[in-house]
Amino acid sequence: MREKLRALLALQKVDSRIDELNATVARLKDDPELAALRADLAAKTEQAGLLDHRAQEIARQIKWNEGEVRGLRDAVRTHERKLYGGTINNPKELSQLQAKIEEIKQAIGKLEDQTLDLMLEAEDLTPKVAGAKEGVTAATAAVAARESANTADLAAASAELSELPAQRQEAAAAVDPKLLPDYDYVRSRRAGAAVVVLDRGVCPGCRMAVPPMLQSRIREGTAVVRCENCGRFLCWPE
Ligand SMILES: [Zn+2]
Repeated sequence: MREKLRALLALQKVDSRIDELNATVARLKDDPELAALRADLAAKTEQAGLLDHRAQEIARQIKWNEGEVRGLRDAVRTHERKLYGGTINNPKELSQLQAKIEEIKQAIGKLEDQTLDLMLEAEDLTPKVAGAKEGVTAATAAVAARESANTADLAAASAELSELPAQRQEAAAAVDPKLLPDYDYVRSRRAGAAVVVLDRGVCPGCRMAVPPMLQSRIREGTAVVRCENCGRFLCWPE
């Protein structure tokens, strides 16, 4: 009887390993940690993109402002040449020209103030853009590392899984054919554990006390005993 149980235990060991590996494969194919790393990478990429976009926008705006200021300064010089050139004598026209020059100078002042603000913002932004890009690089590496680790683990699990059907067949062949259907039935209903070791007179599967008479039969090995409550095969602790 002990031999029969031993054969069942050996079969259960193979079956448990198959279950374990299948669970590993499922987890690796739908890895929540990898999903979290990818979400982190997406968020960091977006953030870096926004900062970079703003930095480029500022650079463009500064360039535009500088061009604008150059043009306005040319206009001031042209108007000033006219103003001091002696070609205009009409006082009204002169004061209009003076007002025009003043207006342009104010516009130049405004643009230069704005350019200064933009330069300060750019200065503040530069390390942020660099930091965000470093963050993206690190997050990209973390995703790649996790993916490659998962790929390796998956390959190992798949390789081991491919060898187990043969092992199972061998282990099942050693089991008393009369016990096999019961074993398969209990395993399918009892989350994998069909053969359990008696734990101080209690079936560890369902926590029910096993009657003393059955316990002694298990200990003596005179019969294959199953838990009266859950149907699991019971072994004596060795
Ligand atoms: Zn039980």
